[in-house]
Amino acid sequence: VLLLSGITANIDLGSNLTLNSSVDPNQNITFSLQALNLNGRFIFHDVHHAAKDFGNYHHYLPSAILRPKAVSDIATMIKHVFKMGPSLNLTVAARGHGHSVQGQAQAPDGVVIDMEALKGPKLRIHTGKVPYIDVPGGELWINVLQECLKYGLAPKSWTDYLHLTVGGTLSNAGISGQAFRHGPQISNVHQLEIVTGKGEVVTCSEKQNADLFYGVLGGLGQFGIITRARISLEKAPKMVKWIRVLYSNFSVFAKDQELLISSEKTFDYIEGSVIINRTGILNNWRSSFNPQDPLQASYFRSDGRTLFCLELTKNFDSEETDIMNQQEVESLLSQLSYIPSTLFTSEVTYLEFLDRVHDSEMKLRSKGLWEIPHPWLNLLIPRTQIHNFAQEVFGNILKDHSSGPILIYPLNKSKWDNRTSAVTPDENIFYMVAFLSSALPSSGFDMLGHLLNKNKRILDFCERANIGMKQYLPHYTTPKDWQAHFGPQWETFVQRKSSYDPLAILAPMHRIFQRQY
Ligand code: FAD
Repeated sequence: VLLLSGITANIDLGSNLTLNSSVDPNQNITFSLQALNLNGRFIFHDVHHAAKDFGNYHHYLPSAILRPKAVSDIATMIKHVFKMGPSLNLTVAARGHGHSVQGQAQAPDGVVIDMEALKGPKLRIHTGKVPYIDVPGGELWINVLQECLKYGLAPKSWTDYLHLTVGGTLSNAGISGQAFRHGPQISNVHQLEIVTGKGEVVTCSEKQNADLFYGVLGGLGQFGIITRARISLEKAPKMVKWIRVLYSNFSVFAKDQELLISSEKTFDYIEGSVIINRTGILNNWRSSFNPQDPLQASYFRSDGRTLFCLELTKNFDSEETDIMNQQEVESLLSQLSYIPSTLFTSEVTYLEFLDRVHDSEMKLRSKGLWEIPHPWLNLLIPRTQIHNFAQEVFGNILKDHSSGPILIYPLNKSKWDNRTSAVTPDENIFYMVAFLSSALPSSGFDMLGHLLNKNKRILDFCERANIGMKQYLPHYTTPKDWQAHFGPQWETFVQRKSSYDPLAILAPMHRIFQRQY
C-alpha cells in the first residue's frame, strides 16, 4: 500500500505513464485521470456545483467532475480507479440532477459523474403489445414523459416532481400517488445497463444477472451506475380531473385513504397532506380549483385547526369518457366522509398534472426561495402505528407550525418487489409521510438548526414508541444504524456490495461502507 503523502515513488499506470508521489496528491489525480482516453472530459477547476444539492446544507468538494459522452467513459474511469487502488484513493459518485438533500450524490475529493452529460443513445420507444422506452440513466423524467406523449404513451409510476433523473429516482424507489396501484418506479423497470464498481458494463433484468438488477433498484447507487433503463409504459390519458377534499379528523381521513387504495374501482392517483395552523384556507385555495358549492364553501372556517387534505385524480380522454367518469367519480366520492363544503375540482392536461410542482418551483425561484436549505425528512410508517404517529407528530411536535408541505398517503406493500434493495415497513399497508421543510432566510434565527431539531424529535419519538418506521431516502452515519435500517436485508446488501463494488468506490456519502484498498 502506497499513500501519496510525501513518499517519493513511481507507480506504473500501465500506459507508459507514472505517478510521482512527491507531487501534490491533487496534481497526481489530475495527471492520472487526464491520461485516460475518453470521448468526454474531466473538469478539475470549476467543481463547486458538484458540492451542492437541493438540501443545500452538505457541501463536499470533489477533485474532478467527469462529463461522459459515452458509457465507455464511465467504465474506463471506474476501471482505472479500481485498478489503481490506494495510489489514487478516489471514490466516485453519480450525480443525477443533484436533488438529494444530504450530500448523497457528492464525493469528497473524489470524482462526481455528471450523468446528465451522457445524452446518447436517443430515447427509444418500443410501441408493441408491451410498450417500453429505453432511456439514459441521466435523463430527466420530464423529458421521458414528453417523448412518450408523442406516441400517446407514458410511464405508469411517477414522482411528484419530474425534474429528477431516471438513475436518481431508481436508486431510491420513486414514489407518488400512482404507487398504490403500480408500485414505485422500481417496480416498473424491465432492464438496466449498469457500470459496476469494477468498471464492468453489465446488462441485467429479471432473467439476466438478476441479482445485480434487483440490487441496483433502490440500491442507493452502491452497486453500479445506471447508464440505461428500460421503463414500462401504458397508454397515456389526455386529461385529468383533479379533486381535493378536506377532513378535520385524522382517523376518518386515513380510513377513507385506505378504503380507496384497497378498492379495485378507484381513483388513478391518491395522495394527501396535512394543513397546520392556516386560517382562511379556502380563500387561499389554488385559484385553479373551484369549490363545487361556492356558497357552502364560503361558510367554511378552518380557524387554525389542523386539517387533512385528500388529493385524487381520475384520468379521461374525451367528453364522452368524462361523462362516464363523472358518474364513477360521484359514486366513489359518495363513499367518503370529508367535510361536504370542501369539495374542490379542476381539469388539466395529463402533462400539466404530472409537471405540477414545476410551477411552484418557478414561483419560488423568482422569489429567491428555491435555493435555500431543505432539511427534508421522508418516513414510511406501518399502518397500525399511523394514528399513534399522527397524534404525537401533528398534535404535539408540529402542533403550531409547519415549515413546508407535509404529505401523507398509504401504499400497498404487495406492489413492491421484495427482491429489490428498497426497505419498507413490515406491514401490508404503510404510509409515506414527507416533511418537506424549507429553512427560510431569516435574520438572527437558526431556522435550519430549528428544523433539524424538529426532525430529530420526530425520529426520537419513532424510536421511543417503537413505531417500526423505515426512512425513505435514508440518511444514517454509522454502519450500525444502516444495519438496523436494512434489518434482514442487510446480509444480502453486504454480499452484493462485495460482488459488484468490492473496494467501496461508489456513492461514498451514504456512509454505508468504508473505501477499501
Ligand atoms: P441525485 O440527487 O443526483 O442522486 C441521488 C442518489 O442516486 C445518489 O446517491 C447518487 O449517487 C445516485 N445516482 C444518481 N444517478 C445515478 C445513476 N445513474 N446510477 C446510479 N446511481 C445514481 N422522491 C420520490 O420518490 N417521490 C417524490 O415525489 C419526490 N419528489 C421530490 C421533489 C423534489 C422537489 C425533490 C428535490 C426531490 C423529490 N424526491 C422525490 C426525491 C428524489 O427522488 C431523490 O432525491 C432522487 O435521488 C433525486 O434524483 P436526482 O436525479 O436529483 O438524484
